Amino acid sequence: EQEVAEYRKSLAIRVSGFDVPRPVKTFEDCGFAPELMRAIAKQGYEKPTTIQCQALPIVLSGRDIIGIAKTGSGKTASFVLPMIVHIMDQPELQKEEGPIGVICAPTRELAHQIFLETKKFAKAYGIRASAVYGGMSKLDQFKELKAGCEIVIATPGRLIDMLKMKALTMMRATYLVLDEADRMFDLGFEPQIRSIVGQIRPDRQTLLFSATMPRKVEKLAREILSDPVRVTVGEVG
Ligand code: ADP
Ligand code: MG
Repeated sequence: EQEVAEYRKSLAIRVSGFDVPRPVKTFEDCGFAPELMRAIAKQGYEKPTTIQCQALPIVLSGRDIIGIAKTGSGKTASFVLPMIVHIMDQPELQKEEGPIGVICAPTRELAHQIFLETKKFAKAYGIRASAVYGGMSKLDQFKELKAGCEIVIATPGRLIDMLKMKALTMMRATYLVLDEADRMFDLGFEPQIRSIVGQIRPDRQTLLFSATMPRKVEKLAREILSDPVRVTVGEVG
C-alpha cells in the first residue's frame, strides 16, 4: 500500500473510489490471453503507459471509471483491451444482436483512430467493429450495421440517426465508453449522449475519459456512472 502510494505521488497520479484494484506494472499482470498478448507485442507496446497501469485493472474488474489524462497518454488501449476481454467473456455471444461495446467520440477523425486501434486487437478474435460517423453514406452504414457487429465506434449524432433507422439495437450493449467527454460537450452533443445512454441497460459498465472535467461533464458522470473509480494523471486544468 505504501509502495503504491509513493509510486502514484511520484507520477502525479490521483485515484479515488472504494476498493480500488491495485495498479499493474506489466501487460502480463493483466492476465490477457496469448492472442491478445501477441497483438499487443505486434503493436510494439512493451509495457502499459501510466494511465494504462492504473486503468486496466480497474476496467478489467468490471468497475466504472472516470479517466482523466492528457492527449497522447494511451487512453484508447485502456478501454479497448478490456473491451475485447469483456466481449470474449459473454457466455452466449451469438444469441442476440447488436453491439456489445459502444464507443462514442466527438469527431469522425477520433472515431476513425479508435476504430483502427480496435481492429488491431479485435482481429485475432474475429470480433467485428463498425465505425459510424458523418460524411459516409447513411445507407452503406445502415447495411454494415445490419450485417452485425460486436463493437460500434461512433460520433453521437450519427449513432442517433442509425438508432432511429433501426440499423442496430442496443439490447446486447453492456460496455459503454464516452471518450473525450469534454470535447463532446463542447460540440453540443450532450442531448445525444444522454439519449444514447438512456437506450443502454443500466447494469452496463460505463467508462468516461476526458482531458478536463468541467462542471457539466462532472454532473453527467455522477448521473450515469455507478460507484466509479476516478483516475487522474498529471496536472489537469
Ligand atoms: P490518448 O487517447 O490518451 O490521447 P492514445 O490512446 O491515442 O492516447 O495513444 C497515443 C499513442 O501512444 C498512440 O500512438 C498509441 O499507439 C501509443 N501507445 C498506447 N499505448 C502504448 C503503450 N503501452 N506503449 C507504447 N505506445 C503506446
Ligand atoms: Mg484519445
